[in-house]
Amino acid sequence: MKKLSIVVPCYNEEATIQPFLAETQKVEKAMSQDLVFDYLFINDGSKDRTLEILRKTAAQFDNVHYLSFSRNFGKEAALLAGLEEAEGDLVTVMDVDLQDPPELLLSMYKKIQEGYDVIGTRRSDRKGEPVIRSLFAKTFYWLVNKISDTEMVDGARDFRLMTRQVVDSILELGEINRFSKGLFSWVGYDVSYIPYENRERVAGDTSWNFWSLLKYSIDGFINFSYAPLNLATWAGIISFLLSIFAILFVVIRYLLFGDPVSGWASTISVILFLGGLQLLALGIIGKYIAKIFLETKKRPVYIVKEKG
Ligand code: UDP
Ligand code: MG
Repeated sequence: MKKLSIVVPCYNEEATIQPFLAETQKVEKAMSQDLVFDYLFINDGSKDRTLEILRKTAAQFDNVHYLSFSRNFGKEAALLAGLEEAEGDLVTVMDVDLQDPPELLLSMYKKIQEGYDVIGTRRSDRKGEPVIRSLFAKTFYWLVNKISDTEMVDGARDFRLMTRQVVDSILELGEINRFSKGLFSWVGYDVSYIPYENRERVAGDTSWNFWSLLKYSIDGFINFSYAPLNLATWAGIISFLLSIFAILFVVIRYLLFGDPVSGWASTISVILFLGGLQLLALGIIGKYIAKIFLETKKRPVYIVKEKG
């Protein structure tokens, strides 16, 4: 029988692991004719009782396993560890807070049988989410799809069901800076999306705040687009052309009207304008160099302290 590996990253999730497992086991029963489930929890350096609960659960059920990181490495690292460790013919990644409804697995599996390689899920709305967060998310997707060749679907969750072949392809991408939303889409294959209504977490709090999301979206831009670099080039070209016109203007005015001592304010504003552009360009280039620096160090993406 085919095996389905369920990869579940957990960061401070003591309250949600048990409800998650209970719900998913209902689906496991319903699908037991087709698939054997194998749970793989990744404890991403939680500071609460998450690890303790995972140890207990793994002792209780044969098909529950876990990896525990030496510290918090972030959800992307946890996803990678899970995909590397998963042995299933099919692999799914799910949040533990039940925002990814386990019962969707039934219809996702049906679609896999129809011949798709990847079944993604997307939220059809953003109910229950702060307005400002929705606004930023919408802007991010609009912009990233404009300036990057890799399509990212608005509202797409990380929750997806993949065949072994797709997982292997994702694992071949050796980058250390992992922006999963982009990597998942970059590998291609036949993808189908299932929409569903947004849900709130069963318990606990989201570990994202405004700044972590902003940093995450900047990562998305830098990792999947060279457009910011072009932005610097274009800004440079435009200000160069403008300055040629300005010089012509000044020279002609001098020839026609002589040299009245004035124009201090305009000189300073031009200097400030150009200085600002240069700093912006340097900043953008710096972002890319920082990424190169990170990649060349070839540090491991995560460190596993305990396995069970
Ligand atoms: N998570 C993780 N490491 C982190 C932050 C989050 O493994 O550093 C996990 C978390 O336990 C959850 C999933 O990633 O299973 C999604 O996190 P969360 O629910 O906080 O994000 P949201 O649903 O609000 O986007
Ligand atoms: Mg969540």
